Amino acid sequence: MSVPARIDLHTHSTASDGTLGPAELVRAAAHAGLDVVALTDHDTTAGWAAAVAALPPGLTLIRGAELSCRWFGVEPAVPLHLLAYLFDPTEPELVAELARVRRAREERGERIVRLLQADGIGVSWSEILAGAAGGTVGRPHIAAALIRAGLVATTTEAFGPDWLGERYRLPKDDIDVFRAVALVRAAGGVPVFAHPRASRRGRIVPDELIGQLADAGLVGLEADHEDHSPAEREHVRRLAAELGLLVTGSSDFHGTHKTVRLGAHTTGSEAYERIVALARGVTPVASG
Ligand code: AMP
Ligand code: ZN
Ligand code: FE
Ligand code: FE
Repeated sequence: MSVPARIDLHTHSTASDGTLGPAELVRAAAHAGLDVVALTDHDTTAGWAAAVAALPPGLTLIRGAELSCRWFGVEPAVPLHLLAYLFDPTEPELVAELARVRRAREERGERIVRLLQADGIGVSWSEILAGAAGGTVGRPHIAAALIRAGLVATTTEAFGPDWLGERYRLPKDDIDVFRAVALVRAAGGVPVFAHPRASRRGRIVPDELIGQLADAGLVGLEADHEDHSPAEREHVRRLAAELGLLVTGSSDFHGTHKTVRLGAHTTGSEAYERIVALARGVTPVASG
């Protein structure tokens, strides 16, 4: 019997809020024994080229992104994440939308810093921007500044209710999730709903919305994710089966910004092959 392929379809590099550069990330993926890794930085494709250039033999790279979306069906709107695989990174409408969201993230980050400063907390926006080093700015970069200032001990603590999880939490101007699904499909990509039942992170959307997204072109649901309990994973699997969606599992690796390890959860070969077969934007990359 052959050994099943190890496929991790959700990771972050320094192109967003991970702590390994894209080149280091693909090397670490090979080291972790993965056969396939997807690079899915928040709202950017900026890490793709460096990951391709550094791809070790035996590892296949799926180029992707994790789009910051919002469902406007309730008030206030619910934020959610859409993984997008193998889309054309030059499709103008999608490129413009990603650039807009990255700017919105910077505006939100700066407003959060002003709230912190108004309470006498000594963090600076220029220092946080420098920490992001040109990558998509996210709350983990603000968390890192809080750690450097000795105000919290860990990223997890920084995401608690006294800090970025509630007291200093501000919404950002995300992409309407139906528009995101349409844009990804129009760019030849394959959209998969990231951690759809991660209730411990905040509000989640109802199953009815996921049904509507499936009708609109959503292809899959991420079931095995560290933010899902066993019951939540089972719920996602059942819903996917009902809706004819594929199911993925992945680490959502962020380097030292999170404790999860590469390959902590993986995707089955059948789901992976369906994603590749549906994609029309760019191809998986394997080094010779
Ligand atoms: P943002 O994209 O700026 O809203 O920040 C959310 C990012 O922070 C996501 O990529 C999460 O992976 C990460 N995150 C959310 N909650 C936590 C947490 N409790 N601990 C560590 N990272 C978190
Ligand atoms: Zn992140
Ligand atoms: Fe996410
Ligand atoms: Fe993620």
